[in-house]
Amino acid sequence: MAVQNENCFRLNHLDNSWDIDVYIANGGYEVWKKVLAGELEPAEIIEEVKTSNIRGRGGAGFPTGLKWSFMNRFAPGQKYIVCNSDEGEPGTFKDRDILRYNPHALVEGMMIAGYVIGASSGYNYIRGEFWEPYKRFTNAINQAREAGLLGSNILDSGYDFDLFAHLGAGAYICGEETALIESIEGKKGQPRFKPPFPASYGLYGRPTTINNTETLASIPMILAKGGEWFNDLGVPNAGGTKCYSVSGHVNNPGNFEVRMGTPFKEVLELAGGIWKGRKLKAVIPGGASTAILPAEDAMAMNMDYDSIAKAGSFLGAGSIIIMDDQTDIVKVIENLSHFYWDESCGQCSPCREGTGWLYRVVKRIRAGQGRPEDIEALKDVSGKIMGNVICGLGDAATIALTSALKHYEHEFVHYIEHGCSIYDRSE
Ligand code: SF4
Repeated sequence: MAVQNENCFRLNHLDNSWDIDVYIANGGYEVWKKVLAGELEPAEIIEEVKTSNIRGRGGAGFPTGLKWSFMNRFAPGQKYIVCNSDEGEPGTFKDRDILRYNPHALVEGMMIAGYVIGASSGYNYIRGEFWEPYKRFTNAINQAREAGLLGSNILDSGYDFDLFAHLGAGAYICGEETALIESIEGKKGQPRFKPPFPASYGLYGRPTTINNTETLASIPMILAKGGEWFNDLGVPNAGGTKCYSVSGHVNNPGNFEVRMGTPFKEVLELAGGIWKGRKLKAVIPGGASTAILPAEDAMAMNMDYDSIAKAGSFLGAGSIIIMDDQTDIVKVIENLSHFYWDESCGQCSPCREGTGWLYRVVKRIRAGQGRPEDIEALKDVSGKIMGNVICGLGDAATIALTSALKHYEHEFVHYIEHGCSIYDRSE
């Protein structure tokens, strides 16, 4: 059985794991105190994070140490550290559990990151529906401030740093880093054209580093136990542990923190296997923006970037959606197409118009009114969206659909020819 809970979820089994006393009793804030005492220089911290081989846990998988090195901590004026706790990707629900059960790891990770990049303040952008996680994180900030670990002249070090929680308003697109910045600034959450990138022009036009919740919450353990320790937990191209959210047709859905590169089969076992004694049909391995894989490909892969890419999909945010052997793939695509159409910010035409067309055509097929030319139309519209939009949402809207047509086109054809699913379900 896979080894579990060595990093972000290591305290989850403890009563009141979110309380500062529990965090401190388990080694919390020791790294931060070393930083304040001048025992860890920013350059050393960046090297340690690079050694850990941690890659961003929000979906893109960019190396965190490298990202931090893009910031010039000596540049004059304000700089910001921002945490992305928006977590709106369908199938993803790991970050909310970090906020709920280990918020102080995130507070400490954000303070360390802020110190490294020369920021004196940070914001955590939390998804609007996460009321309980927001309260836990806000409480953690207050506890850290009361303990003198946050604020002005922290522990008489002469260093100032403050942290704020910002609650979103429920838009998926605000998980995109520049839309998130716009939203914190009080504007409509729409992605910016890039470049410039946030490292040079971010929040309020100032240099900004944005990292995911799991990434930042991993920093204290990386520095406490060493970059080598973290690296050795993972695989050559990605170190550490990874929190996977497993949902769908399993007996025991939930979050599971295991080592990067753990076989998919073992993660499925942790989630109790396929429900109702059925068989696995397909898997979305990294959230709704990643390609659907047939069971045989999924069962042969490990849960890391390279292995999943070899199978034909992405690790994404590590959100595994399991589909059993009675799943109507056309219905899945109808649902996802509606989601992307609904969440498009409308800024660019291929996404604004194209996602609507994809949804309407799939909906028509599902309603038993599909036309023979519909499949070609879906491929054509997807091709016109992909690569022709400002942000990843437009591209993402085509990925599940395109992969569904690659592996399960016969299910679409069956709907068009017979007006019903291959399982002949009437709903
Ligand atoms: Fe908005 Fe879609 Fe364009 Fe992204 S791709 S900026 S969500 S319209």
